[in-house]
Amino acid sequence: MKVYLKTYGCQMNERDSEQVTRDLLARGYEMTPDAQVADVVLVNTCSVRDLAEQKALGKMGLVAARNRHRPEVVYGFLGCMAQARGADLLRDAPHADLVVGTQKFHRVADHVDAAVARKRARALEGLRHDDLRLGLVDTGEEEGSQNAIHQHTLAPRQATAFVSIMQGCNMHCTYCIVPRTRGAERARPIEQIVGEVRGLAERGVKEVTLLGQIVNLYGRHEFPKRDGKSPFVQLLEAVQAVDGIERIRFTSPHPIGFRADLVDAFARLPKLCEHVHFPMQSGSDRILRAMHRGYTRDKFLGLLAQLRAARPGIAFTTDIIVGFPGETEEDYQLTREATGAADFQNAFVFRYSPRSLTPAADLPDQLTEEVKEARNQDLLAVVNALAVKHGDAWVGRRAEILCEGPSKTNPNRLSGRTRTNKIVVFEGRPRHVGEIFEVHVRHSSGFTLYAEADAPAEESSDPSPLPAEGLVA
Ligand code: SF4
Repeated sequence: MKVYLKTYGCQMNERDSEQVTRDLLARGYEMTPDAQVADVVLVNTCSVRDLAEQKALGKMGLVAARNRHRPEVVYGFLGCMAQARGADLLRDAPHADLVVGTQKFHRVADHVDAAVARKRARALEGLRHDDLRLGLVDTGEEEGSQNAIHQHTLAPRQATAFVSIMQGCNMHCTYCIVPRTRGAERARPIEQIVGEVRGLAERGVKEVTLLGQIVNLYGRHEFPKRDGKSPFVQLLEAVQAVDGIERIRFTSPHPIGFRADLVDAFARLPKLCEHVHFPMQSGSDRILRAMHRGYTRDKFLGLLAQLRAARPGIAFTTDIIVGFPGETEEDYQLTREATGAADFQNAFVFRYSPRSLTPAADLPDQLTEEVKEARNQDLLAVVNALAVKHGDAWVGRRAEILCEGPSKTNPNRLSGRTRTNKIVVFEGRPRHVGEIFEVHVRHSSGFTLYAEADAPAEESSDPSPLPAEGLVA
């Protein structure tokens, strides 16, 4: 029985899909990258933007249309859109059998089992897809479900893994659907997370990324501060102590939860990588207020300065929204200046698009698409120039990388990441995968570095180089 699982959206979704995959494999399902041969088609959805929802609906609709002659195929929507739309999805997607929300990923395999059995049995009776459709919606919250033990499916020599440490967000930024799709903040206990990290380390994982929608506020409702340290800093210390883990990352933090104890952690904890993805969203205090972000531009830039003092060489990337309702040219110029002042290495720039069911969607002074697009393009040029500057600064230097496997854009090359999260592509050998070592950076395209690995001393024991081609990622 073959399952196709397509994932949209953030790393939380990637992590949840990994969990669903593991559960399905354990039940004897086989994963396939080809939706047209699958017996079960699942789409793990994202609700952050309308476009992401449209893509998920479009993908499922296309597969179902091509599968008209196979009425027994099971279709399921998982994740954020499933949570936000619930039963409405059954109306908008007439082929959908399952709608399973963000609180119920652990039930997906059960629902798939039941759906497969039921559809097969009824298909034998000669019913058409419309008559076979199950229409199961499971989006309710289940007490303690976030405390389930998370198992990981690791590829051979996989050395990086995501570890979900909390669910939900209580912040209510006015443009964001997440509090509605992921619910209120709920943290997993430190001991349980550390146990999971220890298990990963025993299986060869060297780098973990701790995941949460508002990760640095981890555990603020459940666990006390100790010695002036927040639960998140206590967790970082506990993960730092796990043998075999050599790099720790986290995403995404919120500036308001970035206090002195966390800044200090960057000075004290050597495994904590010198990179923070730090969403700024806007450089205008007026717009930050309208977004309910809870900080000012000066506070944000001040935090970057504190972190740079605590860990010289630390790199920052960010998310920025342009064209928020009411954003004037002056507001946009403040964002542009703040982007330069922050000296980001890279940024995701989003054109604001109204999300239904969020307060910002109903604000007056929505901007035209032309204005949003012009600001988007202008800010991208600023970000590109920063990326080129930071990339060029690596050329001629040595960089420590953790090799993750074949490059996504050229499988004949390997790729890894620096501690500052720069992607490095190089000609390598299978023995490099999953290892930490230094390379010589020879060239930069801004967002990607191109490097050479040292000639291995034990060349004869590693006789199978990946084939070399041009300097293309
Ligand atoms: S902090 Fe704001 S943007 Fe981030 S998940 Fe929470 S509400 Fe959304």
